[in-house]
Amino acid sequence: MNDGFDPEVVVAGGGPGGMVTAYLLARSGVRVTLLESHRDFDRDFRGDSLHPWTLELLDSLGLAGDLLALPHFAARWFRFHTPHGTIRTTDYGGLPTPYNYVALMPQSRFLDFMAARAAELPGFELRLGAKVTGLLVDGETPDGAPEVTGVRYRDAASGAERELRARLVVGADGRFSRMRRLAGLTAEPLGARSDLLWFRLPRHDDDPPEADVDLYFGRHHYVGLLGGPTDWQIGYSLPKGGYPAVRDAGVEPIHRFVAEHVPWLADRVEKLTSMDDTTLLSVDISRVATWWRPGLLLIGDAAHVISPVGGNGILMAVQDAVAATNRLVPALRAGRVGPDVLAAIQADREPAIQVVQAQQVRTEKRVAKARERGRPMSPPAILRLVTALPGFRVRAARRNAYGPNPPALDVSLLVTRAQSSDSAA
Ligand SMILES: Cc1cc2nc3c(=O)[nH]c(=O)nc-3n(C[C@H](O)[C@H](O)[C@H](O)COP(=O)(O)OP(=O)(O)OC[C@H]3O[C@@H](n4cnc5c(N)ncnc54)[C@H](O)[C@@H]3O)c2cc1C
Repeated sequence: MNDGFDPEVVVAGGGPGGMVTAYLLARSGVRVTLLESHRDFDRDFRGDSLHPWTLELLDSLGLAGDLLALPHFAARWFRFHTPHGTIRTTDYGGLPTPYNYVALMPQSRFLDFMAARAAELPGFELRLGAKVTGLLVDGETPDGAPEVTGVRYRDAASGAERELRARLVVGADGRFSRMRRLAGLTAEPLGARSDLLWFRLPRHDDDPPEADVDLYFGRHHYVGLLGGPTDWQIGYSLPKGGYPAVRDAGVEPIHRFVAEHVPWLADRVEKLTSMDDTTLLSVDISRVATWWRPGLLLIGDAAHVISPVGGNGILMAVQDAVAATNRLVPALRAGRVGPDVLAAIQADREPAIQVVQAQQVRTEKRVAKARERGRPMSPPAILRLVTALPGFRVRAARRNAYGPNPPALDVSLLVTRAQSSDSAA
Protein backbone atom coordinates (compact mmCIF):
# COMPACT_ATOMS: atom_id res chain seq x y z
CA MET A 1 0.00 0.00 0.00
CA ASN A 2 1.33 3.43 -0.95
CA ASP A 3 1.02 6.61 1.08
CA GLY A 4 -1.60 9.00 -0.31
CA PHE A 5 -2.78 8.34 -3.84
CA ASP A 6 -2.64 4.58 -4.37
CA PRO A 7 -2.40 3.79 -8.11
CA GLU A 8 -3.33 0.51 -9.76
CA VAL A 9 -1.01 1.36 -12.64
CA VAL A 10 2.20 3.39 -12.74
CA VAL A 11 3.22 4.78 -16.13
CA ALA A 12 6.88 5.80 -16.41
CA GLY A 13 7.45 8.49 -19.05
CA GLY A 14 5.19 11.37 -20.05
CA GLY A 15 5.80 11.40 -23.81
CA PRO A 16 2.90 10.84 -26.23
CA GLY A 17 2.71 7.08 -25.48
CA GLY A 18 2.77 7.37 -21.69
CA MET A 19 0.53 10.43 -21.54
CA VAL A 20 -2.20 8.92 -23.72
CA THR A 21 -2.02 5.59 -21.86
CA ALA A 22 -2.39 7.34 -18.50
CA TYR A 23 -5.24 9.51 -19.81
CA LEU A 24 -7.15 6.56 -21.30
CA LEU A 25 -6.73 4.42 -18.20
CA ALA A 26 -7.95 7.25 -15.99
CA ARG A 27 -10.90 7.88 -18.35
CA SER A 28 -11.70 4.18 -17.92
CA GLY A 29 -11.84 4.54 -14.14
CA VAL A 30 -8.38 3.11 -13.41
CA ARG A 31 -6.24 4.88 -10.78
CA VAL A 32 -3.00 5.76 -12.53
CA THR A 33 0.15 7.71 -11.64
CA LEU A 34 2.26 9.15 -14.44
CA LEU A 35 5.91 9.72 -13.55
CA GLU A 36 7.89 12.07 -15.79
CA SER A 37 11.57 12.70 -15.17
CA HIS A 38 11.50 16.32 -16.41
CA ARG A 39 9.81 19.11 -14.52
CA ASP A 40 7.78 20.15 -17.58
CA PHE A 41 7.02 18.93 -21.11
CA ASP A 42 8.96 21.66 -22.87
CA ARG A 43 11.68 19.90 -24.83
CA ASP A 44 13.10 20.65 -28.27
CA PHE A 45 13.16 18.51 -31.39
CA ARG A 46 10.84 15.72 -30.35
CA GLY A 47 8.43 15.40 -33.25
CA ASP A 48 5.37 17.57 -33.53
CA SER A 49 3.02 15.67 -35.82
CA LEU A 50 -0.52 14.57 -34.96
CA HIS A 51 -1.86 12.32 -37.69
CA PRO A 52 -5.48 12.07 -38.87
CA TRP A 53 -5.89 8.83 -36.87
CA THR A 54 -4.73 10.60 -33.69
CA LEU A 55 -7.07 13.53 -34.33
CA GLU A 56 -9.99 11.10 -34.86
CA LEU A 57 -9.09 9.40 -31.57
CA LEU A 58 -9.09 12.76 -29.79
CA ASP A 59 -12.41 13.54 -31.44
CA SER A 60 -13.91 10.33 -30.05
CA LEU A 61 -12.73 11.47 -26.60
CA GLY A 62 -14.28 14.93 -27.07
CA LEU A 63 -10.86 16.61 -27.06
CA ALA A 64 -10.12 17.42 -30.71
CA GLY A 65 -12.01 20.72 -30.91
CA ASP A 66 -10.27 22.29 -27.91
CA LEU A 67 -6.86 20.98 -28.92
CA LEU A 68 -7.17 22.25 -32.48
CA ALA A 69 -8.24 25.66 -31.19
CA LEU A 70 -4.59 25.97 -30.11
CA PRO A 71 -2.10 27.27 -32.69
CA HIS A 72 -0.97 24.63 -35.18
CA PHE A 73 -0.29 24.13 -38.88
CA ALA A 74 -2.26 21.76 -41.07
CA ALA A 75 0.03 19.87 -43.47
CA ARG A 76 -1.97 18.52 -46.43
CA TRP A 77 0.88 17.27 -48.61
CA PHE A 78 4.06 15.33 -48.27
CA ARG A 79 6.58 16.33 -50.93
CA PHE A 80 9.92 15.05 -52.04
CA HIS A 81 12.25 17.57 -53.77
CA THR A 82 15.24 16.26 -55.73
CA PRO A 83 17.47 17.90 -58.34
CA HIS A 84 15.39 15.90 -60.88
CA GLY A 85 12.13 17.40 -59.78
CA THR A 86 9.50 17.46 -57.07
CA ILE A 87 6.94 14.78 -56.43
CA ARG A 88 3.94 14.85 -54.17
CA THR A 89 3.75 11.36 -52.75
CA THR A 90 0.95 11.94 -50.28
CA ASP A 91 -2.30 13.89 -50.33
CA TYR A 92 -3.98 13.92 -46.93
CA GLY A 93 -6.52 16.42 -48.28
CA GLY A 94 -8.23 13.62 -50.25
CA LEU A 95 -8.97 11.53 -47.14
CA PRO A 96 -12.66 11.18 -46.28
CA THR A 97 -12.36 12.61 -42.76
CA PRO A 98 -12.74 16.09 -41.30
CA TYR A 99 -9.16 15.59 -40.08
CA ASN A 100 -7.64 15.33 -43.56
CA TYR A 101 -4.25 16.78 -42.62
CA VAL A 102 -1.35 16.26 -40.25
CA ALA A 103 -1.58 18.81 -37.43
CA LEU A 104 1.85 20.21 -36.62
CA MET A 105 1.84 21.44 -33.06
CA PRO A 106 4.78 21.68 -30.66
CA GLN A 107 4.77 18.41 -28.74
CA SER A 108 4.91 20.29 -25.44
CA ARG A 109 1.62 22.04 -26.31
CA PHE A 110 -0.05 18.69 -27.00
CA LEU A 111 1.32 17.14 -23.79
CA ASP A 112 0.40 20.17 -21.66
CA PHE A 113 -3.12 19.99 -23.08
CA MET A 114 -3.46 16.26 -22.38
CA ALA A 115 -2.02 16.65 -18.87
CA ALA A 116 -4.53 19.40 -18.10
CA ARG A 117 -7.43 17.26 -19.33
CA ALA A 118 -6.16 14.22 -17.45
CA ALA A 119 -5.88 16.30 -14.27
CA GLU A 120 -9.68 16.75 -14.41
CA LEU A 121 -10.08 12.98 -13.95
CA PRO A 122 -10.19 11.79 -10.33
CA GLY A 123 -8.15 8.67 -11.07
CA PHE A 124 -5.17 10.52 -12.55
CA GLU A 125 -2.05 11.72 -10.80
CA LEU A 126 0.99 13.33 -12.44
CA ARG A 127 4.36 13.55 -10.72
CA LEU A 128 6.82 15.75 -12.61
CA GLY A 129 10.53 15.69 -11.84
CA ALA A 130 10.12 12.01 -10.95
CA LYS A 131 12.85 9.94 -12.54
CA VAL A 132 12.39 6.19 -12.33
CA THR A 133 15.62 4.59 -11.14
CA GLY A 134 14.60 1.06 -10.21
CA LEU A 135 11.97 -1.65 -10.42
CA LEU A 136 10.47 -3.26 -7.34
CA VAL A 137 10.48 -6.99 -7.88
CA ASP A 138 9.29 -8.79 -4.83
CA GLY A 139 6.61 -11.19 -5.88
CA GLU A 140 6.30 -14.30 -7.94
CA THR A 141 3.84 -15.17 -10.67
CA PRO A 142 1.98 -18.48 -10.39
CA ASP A 143 4.58 -20.03 -12.71
CA GLY A 144 7.44 -18.91 -10.49
CA ALA A 145 8.79 -15.96 -12.54
CA PRO A 146 9.61 -12.80 -10.58
CA GLU A 147 6.97 -10.09 -10.87
CA VAL A 148 7.44 -6.33 -11.11
CA THR A 149 5.34 -4.76 -8.36
CA GLY A 150 6.28 -1.10 -8.64
CA VAL A 151 9.08 1.39 -9.19
CA ARG A 152 11.68 3.33 -7.30
CA TYR A 153 12.08 6.95 -8.39
CA ARG A 154 14.01 10.08 -7.49
CA ASP A 155 11.96 13.15 -6.70
CA ALA A 156 13.85 16.13 -8.17
CA ALA A 157 12.27 18.69 -5.83
CA SER A 158 13.36 17.01 -2.60
CA GLY A 159 16.16 14.76 -3.89
CA ALA A 160 14.46 11.89 -2.04
CA GLU A 161 14.25 8.32 -3.32
CA ARG A 162 10.69 7.04 -3.24
CA GLU A 163 8.87 3.82 -3.95
CA LEU A 164 5.52 3.40 -5.64
CA ARG A 165 3.73 0.07 -5.81
CA ALA A 166 1.16 -0.85 -8.42
CA ARG A 167 -0.48 -3.85 -10.03
CA LEU A 168 1.14 -2.96 -13.34
CA VAL A 169 4.02 -0.76 -14.46
CA VAL A 170 3.95 0.63 -18.00
CA GLY A 171 7.41 1.62 -19.31
CA ALA A 172 6.87 4.47 -21.79
CA ASP A 173 10.22 6.13 -21.22
CA GLY A 174 11.34 6.41 -24.81
CA ARG A 175 14.24 5.37 -26.97
CA PHE A 176 16.84 5.22 -24.19
CA SER A 177 14.39 3.42 -21.91
CA ARG A 178 15.71 2.78 -18.44
CA MET A 179 12.76 0.49 -17.73
CA ARG A 180 13.84 -1.70 -20.62
CA ARG A 181 17.36 -1.91 -19.25
CA LEU A 182 16.21 -2.51 -15.69
CA ALA A 183 14.04 -5.40 -16.90
CA GLY A 184 17.01 -6.94 -18.71
CA LEU A 185 15.42 -6.42 -22.15
CA THR A 186 17.44 -5.32 -25.18
CA ALA A 187 16.36 -3.45 -28.31
CA GLU A 188 17.96 -5.08 -31.36
CA PRO A 189 19.14 -2.59 -33.99
CA LEU A 190 17.50 -3.10 -37.38
CA GLY A 191 19.68 -0.95 -39.63
CA ALA A 192 19.70 2.84 -39.18
CA ARG A 193 22.41 4.33 -41.41
CA SER A 194 21.96 8.06 -40.87
CA ASP A 195 22.10 10.58 -38.11
CA LEU A 196 20.33 13.93 -38.11
CA LEU A 197 21.48 17.34 -37.02
CA TRP A 198 18.58 19.56 -35.95
CA PHE A 199 18.43 23.33 -35.91
CA ARG A 200 15.89 26.09 -36.36
CA LEU A 201 15.51 28.93 -38.84
CA PRO A 202 12.86 31.63 -38.56
CA ARG A 203 9.60 31.30 -40.47
CA HIS A 204 8.48 34.24 -42.64
CA ASP A 205 4.88 35.03 -43.52
CA ASP A 206 5.52 34.59 -47.24
CA ASP A 207 7.25 31.20 -46.97
CA PRO A 208 5.74 28.46 -49.16
CA PRO A 209 2.50 27.52 -47.41
CA GLU A 210 2.75 23.82 -48.30
CA ALA A 211 6.32 23.10 -47.19
CA ASP A 212 5.48 21.92 -43.67
CA VAL A 213 6.77 18.36 -43.92
CA ASP A 214 8.87 18.55 -47.11
CA LEU A 215 12.11 16.68 -47.80
CA TYR A 216 14.89 18.13 -49.99
CA PHE A 217 17.53 15.76 -51.36
CA GLY A 218 21.07 16.62 -52.49
CA ARG A 219 24.20 14.66 -53.29
CA HIS A 220 25.46 13.81 -49.79
CA HIS A 221 22.69 15.03 -47.54
CA TYR A 222 18.99 15.72 -47.36
CA VAL A 223 17.07 18.09 -45.18
CA GLY A 224 13.62 17.51 -43.72
CA LEU A 225 11.44 20.45 -42.69
CA LEU A 226 8.92 20.55 -39.89
CA GLY A 227 6.86 23.72 -39.87
CA GLY A 228 6.20 25.48 -36.58
CA PRO A 229 4.33 28.70 -35.77
CA THR A 230 7.42 30.93 -35.71
CA ASP A 231 10.21 28.81 -37.12
CA TRP A 232 11.22 25.81 -39.17
CA GLN A 233 12.76 22.79 -37.50
CA ILE A 234 15.31 21.47 -39.92
CA GLY A 235 16.86 18.00 -39.84
CA TYR A 236 20.12 17.77 -41.84
CA SER A 237 21.14 14.19 -42.58
CA LEU A 238 24.63 12.80 -41.97
CA PRO A 239 26.07 9.35 -42.47
CA LYS A 240 25.85 7.38 -39.22
CA GLY A 241 28.82 8.32 -37.06
CA GLY A 242 29.66 11.28 -39.32
CA TYR A 243 29.11 13.95 -36.70
CA PRO A 244 32.75 14.67 -35.73
CA ALA A 245 33.61 15.53 -39.37
CA VAL A 246 30.51 17.71 -39.77
CA ARG A 247 31.20 19.47 -36.46
CA ASP A 248 34.80 20.18 -37.46
CA ALA A 249 33.65 21.59 -40.82
CA GLY A 250 31.31 24.00 -38.99
CA VAL A 251 28.17 25.69 -40.20
CA GLU A 252 29.41 26.87 -43.64
CA PRO A 253 28.72 23.60 -45.54
CA ILE A 254 25.26 23.49 -43.97
CA HIS A 255 24.57 27.05 -45.12
CA ARG A 256 25.67 26.13 -48.66
CA PHE A 257 23.55 22.98 -48.77
CA VAL A 258 20.40 24.67 -47.50
CA ALA A 259 20.83 27.71 -49.76
CA GLU A 260 21.30 25.47 -52.81
CA HIS A 261 18.54 22.97 -52.17
CA VAL A 262 15.96 25.04 -50.31
CA PRO A 263 16.52 28.39 -52.07
CA TRP A 264 13.70 30.18 -50.26
CA LEU A 265 15.64 29.68 -46.99
CA ALA A 266 18.87 31.16 -48.48
CA ASP A 267 18.05 34.62 -47.10
CA ARG A 268 18.32 33.40 -43.50
CA VAL A 269 20.73 30.45 -43.35
CA GLU A 270 23.28 32.79 -41.75
CA LYS A 271 21.08 32.84 -38.66
CA LEU A 272 22.59 29.47 -37.88
CA THR A 273 25.82 30.94 -36.52
CA SER A 274 27.34 28.09 -34.56
CA MET A 275 27.31 24.33 -34.22
CA ASP A 276 26.24 25.02 -30.62
CA ASP A 277 22.81 25.86 -32.06
CA THR A 278 22.45 22.35 -33.49
CA THR A 279 21.37 19.15 -31.76
CA LEU A 280 22.63 15.76 -32.89
CA LEU A 281 20.03 13.00 -33.11
CA SER A 282 21.53 9.57 -33.40
CA VAL A 283 18.87 7.90 -35.51
CA ASP A 284 17.84 4.48 -34.29
CA ILE A 285 15.46 1.82 -35.56
CA SER A 286 15.31 -1.05 -33.12
CA ARG A 287 12.88 -3.44 -31.43
CA VAL A 288 12.70 -5.51 -28.28
CA ALA A 289 11.86 -9.20 -28.81
CA THR A 290 9.50 -9.40 -25.81
CA TRP A 291 7.79 -6.19 -24.73
CA TRP A 292 6.89 -7.34 -21.23
CA ARG A 293 7.86 -9.07 -18.04
CA PRO A 294 5.28 -10.16 -15.47
CA GLY A 295 3.96 -6.89 -14.02
CA LEU A 296 5.68 -4.69 -16.64
CA LEU A 297 4.70 -3.64 -20.18
CA LEU A 298 6.87 -1.59 -22.53
CA ILE A 299 5.16 0.59 -25.15
CA GLY A 300 6.20 3.24 -27.69
CA ASP A 301 9.86 3.88 -28.33
CA ALA A 302 10.76 1.93 -25.18
CA ALA A 303 9.58 -1.23 -26.99
CA HIS A 304 10.42 -0.22 -30.57
CA VAL A 305 12.40 2.85 -31.58
CA ILE A 306 10.89 4.53 -34.65
CA SER A 307 13.14 6.86 -36.66
CA PRO A 308 11.91 10.36 -37.55
CA VAL A 309 11.80 9.30 -41.24
CA GLY A 310 8.12 9.09 -42.13
CA GLY A 311 7.15 11.09 -39.05
CA ASN A 312 5.05 8.36 -37.47
CA GLY A 313 6.72 7.60 -34.13
CA ILE A 314 4.06 9.53 -32.22
CA LEU A 315 1.29 7.74 -34.13
CA MET A 316 2.80 4.34 -33.28
CA ALA A 317 3.22 5.25 -29.59
CA VAL A 318 -0.38 6.50 -29.31
CA GLN A 319 -1.70 3.41 -31.11
CA ASP A 320 0.21 1.27 -28.58
CA ALA A 321 -1.57 3.22 -25.84
CA VAL A 322 -4.97 2.43 -27.34
CA ALA A 323 -4.19 -1.26 -27.89
CA ALA A 324 -2.90 -1.49 -24.31
CA THR A 325 -5.99 0.23 -22.87
CA ASN A 326 -8.35 -2.10 -24.74
CA ARG A 327 -6.81 -5.12 -23.03
CA LEU A 328 -5.63 -3.71 -19.70
CA VAL A 329 -8.89 -2.21 -18.52
CA PRO A 330 -10.93 -5.46 -18.68
CA ALA A 331 -8.02 -7.36 -17.10
CA LEU A 332 -7.67 -4.82 -14.27
CA ARG A 333 -11.42 -4.96 -13.69
CA ALA A 334 -11.25 -8.75 -13.60
CA GLY A 335 -8.52 -8.51 -10.97
CA ARG A 336 -5.35 -9.65 -12.74
CA VAL A 337 -3.09 -8.55 -15.60
CA GLY A 338 -1.35 -11.80 -16.38
CA PRO A 339 1.42 -12.49 -18.89
CA ASP A 340 -1.24 -13.65 -21.39
CA VAL A 341 -2.71 -10.12 -21.45
CA LEU A 342 0.70 -8.47 -21.88
CA ALA A 343 1.66 -10.92 -24.64
CA ALA A 344 -1.65 -10.23 -26.39
CA ILE A 345 -0.94 -6.48 -26.41
CA GLN A 346 2.41 -7.13 -28.07
CA ALA A 347 0.75 -9.48 -30.56
CA ASP A 348 -1.83 -6.79 -31.39
CA ARG A 349 0.81 -4.20 -32.17
CA GLU A 350 3.97 -5.93 -33.31
CA PRO A 351 2.90 -6.71 -36.91
CA ALA A 352 2.21 -3.02 -37.58
CA ILE A 353 5.48 -1.96 -36.00
CA GLN A 354 7.34 -4.51 -38.12
CA VAL A 355 5.82 -3.07 -41.30
CA VAL A 356 6.68 0.53 -40.36
CA GLN A 357 10.23 -0.29 -39.28
CA ALA A 358 10.89 -2.42 -42.39
CA GLN A 359 9.84 0.54 -44.51
CA GLN A 360 12.15 2.84 -42.56
CA VAL A 361 15.07 0.43 -42.97
CA ARG A 362 14.43 0.29 -46.76
CA THR A 363 14.46 4.10 -46.93
CA GLU A 364 17.67 4.25 -44.89
CA LYS A 365 19.30 1.80 -47.31
CA ARG A 366 18.27 3.76 -50.39
CA VAL A 367 19.50 7.04 -48.94
CA ALA A 368 22.80 5.48 -47.84
CA LYS A 369 23.32 3.88 -51.27
CA ALA A 370 22.71 7.17 -53.08
CA ARG A 371 25.06 8.93 -50.67
CA GLU A 372 27.82 6.35 -51.15
CA ARG A 373 27.55 6.76 -54.93
CA GLY A 374 27.65 10.53 -54.52
CA ARG A 375 24.38 10.85 -56.45
CA PRO A 376 21.38 12.72 -55.18
CA MET A 377 18.58 10.39 -54.30
CA SER A 378 16.12 10.37 -57.12
CA PRO A 379 12.66 8.85 -57.08
CA PRO A 380 12.34 5.85 -59.40
CA ALA A 381 10.63 6.75 -62.69
CA ILE A 382 7.70 4.49 -61.81
CA LEU A 383 7.12 6.42 -58.59
CA ARG A 384 7.04 9.67 -60.54
CA LEU A 385 4.43 8.20 -62.84
CA VAL A 386 2.16 6.69 -60.21
CA THR A 387 2.29 9.68 -57.90
CA ALA A 388 0.81 11.74 -60.71
CA LEU A 389 -2.40 9.76 -60.08
CA PRO A 390 -4.47 11.39 -57.32
CA GLY A 391 -5.76 7.96 -56.20
CA PHE A 392 -2.21 6.83 -55.48
CA ARG A 393 -1.47 9.90 -53.36
CA VAL A 394 -4.63 9.42 -51.33
CA ARG A 395 -3.84 5.73 -50.75
CA ALA A 396 -0.33 6.73 -49.63
CA ALA A 397 -1.90 9.31 -47.32
CA ARG A 398 -4.22 6.68 -45.84
CA ARG A 399 -1.30 4.35 -45.10
CA ASN A 400 0.64 7.14 -43.41
CA ALA A 401 -2.38 8.72 -41.68
CA TYR A 402 -3.60 5.52 -40.02
CA GLY A 403 -0.58 3.18 -40.06
CA PRO A 404 -0.97 -0.55 -40.66
CA ASN A 405 -3.80 -2.29 -38.72
CA PRO A 406 -4.79 0.77 -36.65
CA PRO A 407 -6.45 -0.20 -33.36
CA ALA A 408 -9.91 1.13 -32.52
CA LEU A 409 -10.41 2.33 -28.95
CA ASP A 410 -13.14 0.37 -27.19
CA VAL A 411 -15.10 3.44 -26.09
CA SER A 412 -17.46 1.28 -24.04
CA LEU A 413 -14.59 1.08 -21.50
CA LEU A 414 -14.75 4.82 -20.79
CA VAL A 415 -16.65 5.72 -17.66
CA THR A 416 -18.72 8.77 -16.84
CA ARG A 417 -17.42 11.39 -14.44
CA ALA A 418 -19.70 10.07 -11.66
CA GLN A 419 -18.53 6.49 -12.17
CA SER A 420 -14.87 7.50 -12.18
CA SER A 421 -15.30 9.53 -8.95
CA ASP A 422 -16.71 6.41 -7.31
CA SER A 423 -13.84 4.17 -8.48
CA ALA A 424 -11.19 6.70 -7.41
CA ALA A 425 -12.64 6.94 -3.92
C1 LIG B 1 14.54 14.70 -33.24
C2 LIG B 1 13.32 13.82 -33.41
C3 LIG B 1 12.35 14.17 -34.30
C4 LIG B 1 11.23 13.37 -34.47
N1 LIG B 1 10.27 13.74 -35.33
C5 LIG B 1 9.10 13.07 -35.34
C6 LIG B 1 7.98 13.57 -36.05
O1 LIG B 1 8.03 14.60 -36.68
N2 LIG B 1 6.82 12.87 -35.97
C7 LIG B 1 6.72 11.72 -35.25
O2 LIG B 1 5.64 11.13 -35.20
N3 LIG B 1 7.76 11.22 -34.59
C8 LIG B 1 8.93 11.88 -34.60
N4 LIG B 1 9.97 11.41 -33.86
C9 LIG B 1 9.81 10.17 -33.12
C10 LIG B 1 8.93 10.42 -31.91
O3 LIG B 1 9.38 11.55 -31.18
C11 LIG B 1 8.94 9.18 -31.01
O4 LIG B 1 8.72 8.01 -31.77
C12 LIG B 1 7.81 9.34 -29.99
O5 LIG B 1 8.02 10.51 -29.23
C13 LIG B 1 7.77 8.14 -29.07
O6 LIG B 1 6.91 8.43 -28.00
P1 LIG B 1 7.11 7.76 -26.58
O7 LIG B 1 6.02 8.29 -25.73
O8 LIG B 1 7.25 6.30 -26.74
O9 LIG B 1 8.53 8.25 -26.07
P2 LIG B 1 9.10 9.71 -25.83
O10 LIG B 1 8.37 10.72 -26.62
O11 LIG B 1 10.56 9.62 -26.01
O12 LIG B 1 8.77 10.02 -24.30
C14 LIG B 1 9.48 9.37 -23.26
C15 LIG B 1 9.29 10.21 -22.01
O13 LIG B 1 9.84 9.48 -20.92
C16 LIG B 1 10.56 10.38 -20.09
N5 LIG B 1 11.56 9.58 -19.34
C17 LIG B 1 12.71 9.06 -19.82
N6 LIG B 1 13.33 8.36 -18.87
C18 LIG B 1 12.56 8.44 -17.76
C19 LIG B 1 12.67 7.91 -16.44
N7 LIG B 1 13.73 7.18 -16.05
N8 LIG B 1 11.68 8.20 -15.56
C20 LIG B 1 10.60 8.93 -15.92
N9 LIG B 1 10.46 9.46 -17.16
C21 LIG B 1 11.41 9.21 -18.07
C22 LIG B 1 11.16 11.37 -21.06
O14 LIG B 1 11.52 12.58 -20.43
C23 LIG B 1 10.02 11.54 -22.06
O15 LIG B 1 9.15 12.57 -21.69
C24 LIG B 1 11.11 12.18 -33.71
C25 LIG B 1 12.09 11.82 -32.80
C26 LIG B 1 13.18 12.64 -32.63
C27 LIG B 1 14.21 12.24 -31.60
